[in-house]
Amino acid sequence: MSGVRVRFAPSPTGPLHIGGARSALFNWLFARNQGGTFIVRIEDTDLERSSRESEENILAALRWLGLDWDEGIEVGGPHGPYRQTERLPIYQRYARQLLESGWAYRCYCTEEELAAEREALLARGEMPRYTGRCRYLCEEDRHRLEAEGRRPVLRFAVPSGETITVQDLVRGEVSFDVDGIGDFIIVKSDGIPTYNFAVVVDDHTMGITHVIRAEEHLSNTPRQILIYRAFGWPVPQFAHVSLILGRDRTKMSKRHGATSIEQYREMGYLPEAMVNFLALLGWSPGGEEEIFTLEELKRQFSLERVAKNPAVFDLDKLNWLNGHYIRQSPLERVTDLAVPFLQKAGYISGEVTPEQYQWLKQLVAAVRDYLTNLSEITRHVDIFFAPEVEPEDEEARSVLAGEQVPRVLAALAEKIKSADGLDEEIARSILKRLPRELGLGARKVYLPIRVALTGRTHGPELYQVIPLLGKEKVLARLARAG
Ligand code: GLU
Repeated sequence: MSGVRVRFAPSPTGPLHIGGARSALFNWLFARNQGGTFIVRIEDTDLERSSRESEENILAALRWLGLDWDEGIEVGGPHGPYRQTERLPIYQRYARQLLESGWAYRCYCTEEELAAEREALLARGEMPRYTGRCRYLCEEDRHRLEAEGRRPVLRFAVPSGETITVQDLVRGEVSFDVDGIGDFIIVKSDGIPTYNFAVVVDDHTMGITHVIRAEEHLSNTPRQILIYRAFGWPVPQFAHVSLILGRDRTKMSKRHGATSIEQYREMGYLPEAMVNFLALLGWSPGGEEEIFTLEELKRQFSLERVAKNPAVFDLDKLNWLNGHYIRQSPLERVTDLAVPFLQKAGYISGEVTPEQYQWLKQLVAAVRDYLTNLSEITRHVDIFFAPEVEPEDEEARSVLAGEQVPRVLAALAEKIKSADGLDEEIARSILKRLPRELGLGARKVYLPIRVALTGRTHGPELYQVIPLLGKEKVLARLARAG
């Protein structure tokens, strides 16, 4: 293993979203590409919004995507615990250190006092921030305030007049003037650390070398660097990955459709399509190729090729990729993934027998070319389950009105009746010979057969449709339409 150590540090306040999944994937790919270590840590210090349910959802989604982790929640490791609420004594220890070295101080200001300060700053046209009222309290003041029952927060003493420069691996050099920051809270009055403090303590104690995360955290980075400096700790490298926009170029949100990985799984997207799609949200290998397996991504991924400009979430592209993987995957796998959708739609119930499974495999083979996700399968298979079918529209009805139709359907019925069994091979050879035997053009033969058997003018190959329906249904439908 190399010295590279990266982490995905989700806040369990909802399911894993596209953006989080992309951060996780980029970290994973970077670790795997570099022979490094990938860590998953749970940042649950927002007690009100965090839940175990969200944590489980996130971890399940990571596993579904195929992103395993070497250290962290559930798998353990030498730097645990990996859930922030279980690390409170660690933060307390480091907070005390900052307090003792003068980098942090106790602040007793009430909500009302802070609001009044904010108002006053705004009225003067200044940036609202904490101006450090409690920074130089003497012992006596502190005792008095504590005697009033006030419980302090800990604030970081931001030095004045400094510029912090980040050499971001994606964004290049970014500078921040720290004067605008104000002394920020590092531990709340209930003893819970804030994100900026906990993240630094964790990233340092877990030996993180590269922090790869969403661009929205770029503005937190100078605060975090100030904390590293106060401790005298080395600062990791940062890579802030661009926002994901919807097609209207506003930040991706629920308005743009499904945003969680779980929703895509439930719609029948394959994990490999999702991974392929997520990788291309901000990264590109440079060539024209767009299809990448996880293995290929692992080999080719580099932070240098992560784009600075925002990525656009293009559902058509995801559909195209998913369609590709549905067509490419082993038939058994696609069948196994499709079965729950058929069960849910009520097409099949109970245990699938081996015989039924063989039939389902043929069914999936016949329709999978038309699918962009597996939930769509239910729209394509109704014709195989229905006892009878009707021509679906005027066009289909007019096909059956052709004067040659009774002759065509009767000829096919005759051949099917006398055929020894009915598999694709047999169906193919019967169908192939029909036009010549009847002295008709292919269209005049196949189109009415298609409408008679499926009610539609388009659909899967007839040599697949016929064995799927089986002799009995085929003969009944031909008789009904003829
Ligand atoms: N818990 C933060 C989030 O979910 C992680 C930010 C970071 O990676 O530092 O946004």
